[in-house]
Amino acid sequence: MKVTIVGGGVIGLCSAYYLQKAGHEVTVIDRGDITDGCSFGNMGYISPSHFIPLATPGIVSQGLKWMMSSTSPFYIKPRLNIDLMRWGMTFWKKSNAKNVEDSAPHLNNLLQLSRERMNDLKKELPDSFDMIEKGCWMLYKSEKTGEHEKHLAEQAHTFGLKTILCTPQQVQDYETEVEVNVAGGVLYIDDCHLSSAKFMQSLFNYLQKNKVKFWLHTEVTGFEKSNGKITSVTTDKGNISCDELVIANGSWLGNISKLLGLKMLMQPGKGYSVVYNELEKNLQYPSILVDDRTATTPINKWLRIGGTMELSGHSDNILPKRVMAIHTAFKKYYPLMNLPEPDVTKAWYGYRPVTPDGMPYIGRHTAYSNLTYAGGHAMLGVSAAAGTGQLIKEIIGGEKPAIKLTAFNPERFS
Ligand SMILES: Cc1cc2nc3c(=O)[nH]c(=O)nc-3n(C[C@H](O)[C@H](O)[C@H](O)COP(=O)(O)OP(=O)(O)OC[C@H]3O[C@@H](n4cnc5c(N)ncnc54)[C@H](O)[C@@H]3O)c2cc1C
Repeated sequence: MKVTIVGGGVIGLCSAYYLQKAGHEVTVIDRGDITDGCSFGNMGYISPSHFIPLATPGIVSQGLKWMMSSTSPFYIKPRLNIDLMRWGMTFWKKSNAKNVEDSAPHLNNLLQLSRERMNDLKKELPDSFDMIEKGCWMLYKSEKTGEHEKHLAEQAHTFGLKTILCTPQQVQDYETEVEVNVAGGVLYIDDCHLSSAKFMQSLFNYLQKNKVKFWLHTEVTGFEKSNGKITSVTTDKGNISCDELVIANGSWLGNISKLLGLKMLMQPGKGYSVVYNELEKNLQYPSILVDDRTATTPINKWLRIGGTMELSGHSDNILPKRVMAIHTAFKKYYPLMNLPEPDVTKAWYGYRPVTPDGMPYIGRHTAYSNLTYAGGHAMLGVSAAAGTGQLIKEIIGGEKPAIKLTAFNPERFS
């Protein structure tokens, strides 16, 4: 079949990967050139540990407290915007224990499927993308957070994940080159990390060699439909006919859905990262600095630190205090590393595609007979990309999906 994918981020490329292997004629359309965007400057975690969805009890009140501080890891730009208001109301309704209880097993299934598939991709893709399989820390400063983390580790065990609970000294024993100042940590052994930009490049090189067609610098502007089917994609460079259409355009998924006459709840959740090169001494493990919602990714002498979640639309305005807050948080946990202050004007930023319950949209939409969604993975796009790609291939091929898809139904808010 002719399968057209809108969006060449990590979700679009992983979908293309599995679809072309199944023998489909695949075309990927992207308005950029697949060298930058949310799938490039992220932390590169593959995290089965992240089975708790974003919408959790207490998140709304915590978010409101964070809103009062210009250096907090969360910010909503106050504005009258009907899409944001609809999204916010649904997020508020979904931030409860039942959502977590219902969603976590499904998110776990997706993350574990993806983690397995990453082992295949590591072997199958031609270029290395520095995938390092040694786990990821959840490091905490306060005993209260420690208790919460221990509770999460117990839940993780019920999903078959392996963790090691560590005292401050034990954390230090793992971190042989830099001093760590924490109240404790939990090491999630099944997690791994990679260079997200190299992963994208490797996928892109493979797909080009394997006859996937790319329409780059090409903006999708509309669709032609007939008899309940999307027959072609209209772009600023011409029309592309399709038997099947996959919408994988990240945080812009809501905008493109309007062109199909569909309302899909989606907000861009902006995050920042900064990179340090040629460090003489570096972290041995990636870490989430839980109390400060900051993350670190070390690969040899290279280090990325990142964080924040800003709901400010697709604005390219960098908020310097929030970038600096990432650096300040890092220093609290690794006080002697002396990382220079970042040049905030050069901070990388990307827009996470965030749904109101923190669960991605993966599946067919019944408005058209050949429309499939693959998006809304928020902070888990890289973690869940390989599994999502496999599922998209299974959906389009009419196969039984490897995991149950009900929790990811794109029509669940309709
Ligand atoms: C600071 C930060 C750290 C993160 N760390 C991690 C991590 O460690 N692990 C993890 O799993 N996730 C992480 N994420 C999240 C992850 O980066 C995203 O979930 C993922 O990149 C989303 O991929 P995507 O393919 O859905 O969207 P995108 O990468 O945004 O791709 C969508 C593509 O669609 C194209 N597009 C949009 N509209 C159109 C149109 N009309 N016509 C043509 N093309 C269009 C865009 O150009 C874009 O290339 C992080 C995010 C941030 C911001």
